[in-house]
Amino acid sequence: MPTEEAIVKLFYLAAAVLFIIGLKGLSHPRTAVRGNLLAAIGMLVAIVVTLADNRIVSFQIIVSGFVVGGLLGAIMAYRAPMTAMPQVVAIFNGFGGGASALAVGAALEEALKGEWIEELTVQFTSSAAGAALIGAVSLTGSLVAFGKLQGLINERPILLRGRHVINSALVLICLGLSAWQVVGFTPLLFHADSQLAADLDRAAFPPDLRQAFENHGIALSGRLSVSVEEANKAWRITDSGNRETYETKRQGDHLSIHSHSALPFWIMVVVASILGIMLVIPIGGADMPVVVSLLNAYSGLAAAGHGWVLNNSVLIVAGSLVGAAGFILTALMSKAMNRSLANIVFAGVGATVATEAESEDIYAGRVKAASPGEVAMLMEGARRVVIVPGYGMAVAQAQYAIQDLTNLLESKGVEVEFGIHPVAGRMPGHMNVLLAEANIPYEKLKEMDEINPGFRQTDVVLVIGANDVVNPLARNADPSIPIAGMPILNVDQARSVVVIKRSLSPGFAGIPNPLFAADNALMLYGDAKRMAMDLTAALKEI
Ligand code: NAP
Repeated sequence: MPTEEAIVKLFYLAAAVLFIIGLKGLSHPRTAVRGNLLAAIGMLVAIVVTLADNRIVSFQIIVSGFVVGGLLGAIMAYRAPMTAMPQVVAIFNGFGGGASALAVGAALEEALKGEWIEELTVQFTSSAAGAALIGAVSLTGSLVAFGKLQGLINERPILLRGRHVINSALVLICLGLSAWQVVGFTPLLFHADSQLAADLDRAAFPPDLRQAFENHGIALSGRLSVSVEEANKAWRITDSGNRETYETKRQGDHLSIHSHSALPFWIMVVVASILGIMLVIPIGGADMPVVVSLLNAYSGLAAAGHGWVLNNSVLIVAGSLVGAAGFILTALMSKAMNRSLANIVFAGVGATVATEAESEDIYAGRVKAASPGEVAMLMEGARRVVIVPGYGMAVAQAQYAIQDLTNLLESKGVEVEFGIHPVAGRMPGHMNVLLAEANIPYEKLKEMDEINPGFRQTDVVLVIGANDVVNPLARNADPSIPIAGMPILNVDQARSVVVIKRSLSPGFAGIPNPLFAADNALMLYGDAKRMAMDLTAALKEI
């Protein structure tokens, strides 16, 4: 291996190690910032080394792509509120998958032009097919996920009749086109003597070559023509009877022959794009974060496939890490919701919502409202308070007001802890990120398994903008309940529960919550931030 190549590989290895250490750091909030930084340094090393390597397009193209893409990305990320993060992640991730599909398509076209024909190996063509298939699915699937989360498309599952049959057919078509492409593009090597080349140069089709084609299972028609592309080096054989063209190139004492058209590849990309839409359209908005994580894993796989096409080890490692991390996160999220991935992806959960009559049955005359002053009195007398945040805290950006409330309660000798449900909010770690932003110590954030046994010894639970994650209906095994079997925070076991939200509207799962009508529950109606501030003010007055 030449020294230069060895140095590039060494830097790629360093980048891969930085990615892995960075990813490990992301597994805990305390090390997450450093982990993120290390992974970013790894990416910088990978980019600089790739740019310094000689097989790249012009720097003008790279810099313009960097400026345009970077600018658009920065504007989109700055303009998106925290609550819109899932759809921002979805669309960025989709672009990654789309970029992989287009980049392998470009590499294929480039190779077909004959520039690096020797690289058209089975590894090249099959990885190109795989990367393009998965990349196109993740692009259009992510666009649908973005549309649903942004409210541009109906977030309820759209269940087309016969969708499983249609999707299976689309998968088979994609696989068939991929196989066609792999077989058509993989060059057939024929031993070529100078007589054969001379015949081709005279635009005559040598009979030996017909036999060689047939030996490789390619039946030629009677209408063949040969055009000389590059004297004694490259020829184009057109079989007008079968409407097929074969690029023929001299490689040492061999001829390499492959099909000319990239059409099956691009048709496959279009079909895979339709498949991406078809796969995500039947999934409800509440399940979208899981789908986004799955699509994220797909775009990682597409990037890894892209790495195989280009023989670029750092792209293979980075793509595989994204793919594996995405699959692990998807599995953890499904587990936290007590659902199988198949149920999330294929069952169309969420197609029905609670009717007003159903909600009326549960709430009628049983819901008690309280004022900030009354709740402050209740908390003043408590020894232990547990705060359970949910999506509403993110909407209201109430984390700083909650920090003030926590500090005040602690200054009055009340023990305060936070109960964090793994799927509270709209993305994994949503609550942890917001509370960390407000400098609430990690030690106070207790995961579900840790906090649940302590609710019976808790005087007051303050539920702030959470709904589904504290809904006792989840304990029900009835499969018509979308959150049936999902482990919840058992806040109803505490002596008193105060729920801060603006109304009795359902949460993301679209079902009523019997907790609001429980004997030990009080509703504090209003915006989460406003109510946390009012509670602090009322506590100060006591
Ligand atoms: P939720 O069930 O969606 O309920 C959020 C509640 O917040 C709503 O009922 C809403 O009631 C209230 N709210 C909204 N804006 C508010 C504001 N400004 N002030 C006060 N309250 C406000 O939320 P959750 O309990 O956090 O549950 C998360 C849901 O998302 C679960 O169904 C979960 O399965 C799903 N999910 C999450 C993830 C994830 O990664 N985190 C992944 C997949 C699915 P009002 O309108 O009455 O105020």
